[in-house]
Amino acid sequence: MTWIDIPANSPFGPGNLPLGIFRLGDEEPRMGAAIGDQLIDLAPVASAQMLDGSQLFAEPTLNAFLALGRPAWHATREWLLDLVRNEINRDAVEPHLIPQSAVTMQLPFEVADYVDFYASEQHATNLGRLFRPDSEPLLPNWKHLPVGYHGRAGTVVASGTDIVRPSGQRKAPADAVPTYGPSQRLDIEVELGYVVGSPSTLGQPVSVEDFKDHVYGVVVVNDWSARDLQAWEYVPLGPFLGKSFATSISPWVVSLEALEAAAVPLGKQEPAVLPYLAGDALTNFDITFEVYWNGEHVSSPPYRDMYWSPAQMLAHLSVNGASVRTGDLFASGTVSGAEKDQRGSFIELSWGGREPIMVKGEERTFLQDGDEVTITASATTPDGTTIGLGSVTGRILPAH
Ligand code: CA
Repeated sequence: MTWIDIPANSPFGPGNLPLGIFRLGDEEPRMGAAIGDQLIDLAPVASAQMLDGSQLFAEPTLNAFLALGRPAWHATREWLLDLVRNEINRDAVEPHLIPQSAVTMQLPFEVADYVDFYASEQHATNLGRLFRPDSEPLLPNWKHLPVGYHGRAGTVVASGTDIVRPSGQRKAPADAVPTYGPSQRLDIEVELGYVVGSPSTLGQPVSVEDFKDHVYGVVVVNDWSARDLQAWEYVPLGPFLGKSFATSISPWVVSLEALEAAAVPLGKQEPAVLPYLAGDALTNFDITFEVYWNGEHVSSPPYRDMYWSPAQMLAHLSVNGASVRTGDLFASGTVSGAEKDQRGSFIELSWGGREPIMVKGEERTFLQDGDEVTITASATTPDGTTIGLGSVTGRILPAH
């Protein structure tokens, strides 16, 4: 319930209240909370109420807020819930409601380290079949540890940022020698990204139980991928330039506390995982993505069946004592379901380019210059409430 007008089917109902950084005209960027198709300009509201730490809401990134830790995240959420639920706050808040259409959303936080996992069994199996057709699709380690790699934090960009087609080396199996040029197999990867707030201590692993003390919330991720560069370079050390040119994230960070109502038990893991990855209450989220290619809906990847829980991803990435920092982002890996229209990348949707799909009446495989991809996501709770994550979008510009 709220006194604020919210359009029907809005992703940002009164129980969601995701945080982001907006810019209004030439004013300094600062923190807002999304509600319906508006946002609350938090700095002046907090300042008028003489809230402790109100200056944090005027910061140009969420990092200082994220660093405060779980008790402060909870207290802020309670404050926000009261602002929108309790009509007594109308006079204080209403002057600071801004239509989202009037602002430009920024990168919500300064990204510290970026790790990308590979947690969908369906996606890993599909890619195994496409990249290594003559061997077992899943490598022997896949069900024993959440496979991942360290990505490039400095090229994580805000939704809406244009993506310049990368150039690089590639060599198809039939080619005698490698060549250099613009990627001809530019692709997307639909992923969920986890945003670290509280740092951990160097040398001390984070247990699966401590996940919620460190991770504040989630964003939608598009891990742009140049398949031809990737296929040639990835052996033996994994993804490099085929991934590092750009990763787009959605502007609103939805808190784990808001998402909790959409948590679902993790599916069975067989064989049993090692003790540091085991837990009694491991969960996933009932989130569904929608992928639009030049405005045409092409896929609906489901998150709830991901093989690895995010708590296991964090436990694994820190089990050697590596610490996490405020602003760290770790992404789930491409989300793909069992059905063809649930695949989270175009290499899977077009099966390596051999089975084109129809986009606006044209047969398509990989991205062309001028193409635009938008990925939306929303969580569903057992009572039918929708918790929207918003969307991430990007358009392909020709190679330089
Ligand atoms: Ca990825």
